[in-house]
Amino acid sequence: MAMWNPWRGCKKCSDGCLHCYIHKGDSKRNVNTNEIIKTKDFEKPIEKLKNGNYKMKSGIVYLCFSTDFLIEEADEWRNDCWKMMKERQDCTFLFLTKRIDRFMKCIPNDWNNGYDNVVVCCTIENQKNADYKLSIFKDLPIKHKCITAQPLLEKVDIEKYLDNIELVVCRWRI
Ligand code: SF4
Repeated sequence: MAMWNPWRGCKKCSDGCLHCYIHKGDSKRNVNTNEIIKTKDFEKPIEKLKNGNYKMKSGIVYLCFSTDFLIEEADEWRNDCWKMMKERQDCTFLFLTKRIDRFMKCIPNDWNNGYDNVVVCCTIENQKNADYKLSIFKDLPIKHKCITAQPLLEKVDIEKYLDNIELVVCRWRI
């Protein structure tokens, strides 16, 4: 298991963002979360050791867990990330997003029905966002789909959106 944060920072865009742990953590350290900047780990998946092996081990890679992979400010950087994901077929890249309505604007030209090694988790927090986001998500060309109800703000009914969903994760607001 590895973490990959090619950029950091995020902007609130959804009801659940009121409880964003990234903003809370950054404010304690006087870091401006709204500033989206590339990190030194931008090329982490393709960095190599002197012996030619990749530094990052094979397996699951948690992508953009301190930002949102589909945030607008990263539009010019994302294609390079897709290329690195395509190169690392030995890894499975998993990202969560509260911006699933931007998905079709963010995919690479060769995406077709999705990359085999990418898992997309659509995040919802209440019934209003579940209905809006999951009705988009269900029709998107993605090979591996998950739903994260996090932070869950109220009781939600998502049964009609569960076709082709591999996993649902819920975490009540704390
Ligand atoms: S999208 Fe996620 S990381 Fe960004 S502000 Fe909202 S909760 Fe925080």
